[in-house]
Amino acid sequence: MKGDYEAVIGLEIHVQMSTRTKMFCSCPVEFGAPPNQNTCPVCTGMPGVLPVINARAVEYAVKAALALGAKVNLKSVMARKNYFYPDLPKGYQISQYELPLAEGGQVVIETENGEKVIRLVRLHIEEDAGKLIHDEKGESLVDLNRAGTPLMEIVTMPDLSSPQEASAFMREVRKIMRYLGISEGDMEKGHLRCDANVSVRRRGEAQLGTKTEVKNMNSFRFVEKALEYEIRRQVQILEEGGEVVQETRLFDPSTGTTRSMRSKEEAHDYRYFPDPDLIPLVLDKNWVDRIEENLPELPRAKKERYIKELNLPPYDAGVLTETKEIAEFFEKVVAEGVSPKKASNWVMVEVMRIIKEKELNIRHLALSPSSLAKLIRMVEEGKLTGNMAKDVLDVCASTGKDPEEVAQEKGYEVLSDEGELESVVRKIVDEHPDEVQKYLSGKDKIIGWFVGQVMRELKGKADPRKAGELVRRILNEKKGS
Ligand SMILES: [Zn+2]
Repeated sequence: MKGDYEAVIGLEIHVQMSTRTKMFCSCPVEFGAPPNQNTCPVCTGMPGVLPVINARAVEYAVKAALALGAKVNLKSVMARKNYFYPDLPKGYQISQYELPLAEGGQVVIETENGEKVIRLVRLHIEEDAGKLIHDEKGESLVDLNRAGTPLMEIVTMPDLSSPQEASAFMREVRKIMRYLGISEGDMEKGHLRCDANVSVRRRGEAQLGTKTEVKNMNSFRFVEKALEYEIRRQVQILEEGGEVVQETRLFDPSTGTTRSMRSKEEAHDYRYFPDPDLIPLVLDKNWVDRIEENLPELPRAKKERYIKELNLPPYDAGVLTETKEIAEFFEKVVAEGVSPKKASNWVMVEVMRIIKEKELNIRHLALSPSSLAKLIRMVEEGKLTGNMAKDVLDVCASTGKDPEEVAQEKGYEVLSDEGELESVVRKIVDEHPDEVQKYLSGKDKIIGWFVGQVMRELKGKADPRKAGELVRRILNEKKGS
């Protein structure tokens, strides 16, 4: 974007809640089922049926609202949002309008310039529509498996000012939802979708420019690409003396561009009114309070605690709190008495390497936190070298075996007899007078070479740190002579 323009972005994020059944009927929510299998008269919009609200979905949405610091309305109203589309059999979507489930709240994101608070307008519950499939014959087919899936819509204030901030916001929301265990946040299954209102204005100008709404962004990368394109498009129109038209635009991932879909609709076009089939949603204050008391520690709070109480560098704290499962694994290793920084190094480097290689969720790793703790202690006590430990770890991670047993099977044993180690070091030093001379003339790095020779002689069974100390001591003895 040209330097003298700035973007103003507000997001509407739809989060699919991980309930077992749909929002207003007992059909299962299931991805990949044969078309129209998970349907019933309610979610196919047959005349005369009555919706029954899913209590678990309400609980999840309340959880999310509380975690985001929003104010939960003890009384909210389900409303009909009327529009005609082939994937919407009732001719309306049940949503919330005038009295949403929650209002306010905020999400803190990390940007290049530090932390930024993104204020929220509201959070409400609604149902998803079905899906249209356009086949090669030019026919359009309707699959209503998705119709009635419970969604949460989170609407932000226009506080975001770049495509990167928008994707950071989405990532943070996904992280929080996963910590709460209320959405799987699987982008490929459309669990997190985003529409954006975006406008541009000259920097320093108070008045907002005309905005467009960009729809159909279902990955972090698409959000960035779509917004980058849209911002560039709007700036170019203004630069050429034109005017941005207020409209809804669709992002096309195959071209990375947005195209006009329809002129922007206003709220009144949807003829919202309270759904006469559903009484107002009235929540018990004690029930809401109990949910609040039982909220888990959220990623930001956890990260701060790791920095303040465990003295971890912010980078480590960020990586370890990326998912709840990794954080829990790390905390269990620390609970076994391993120092936080040591535990952090092993989890961040080795454990995360293994789960990446195996494409595993850490929950399915055969290695237990207590086995890792044991392994780390074996290294600390000098029973294993770092390289041996990594080998042992790989075996433990795929077999779940005890590290001590694996070390024994592999014949890994660190020479504990210092006398023997010293005699090997002396032998190596005596055999290489040229290298000794190099050390004496100030080439300190040659110590590493000596340690390598010692390790080779002992087939890796020595503690390299200890060997290094011995090499230095014995070489220094030569200085005087
Ligand atoms: Zn149904």
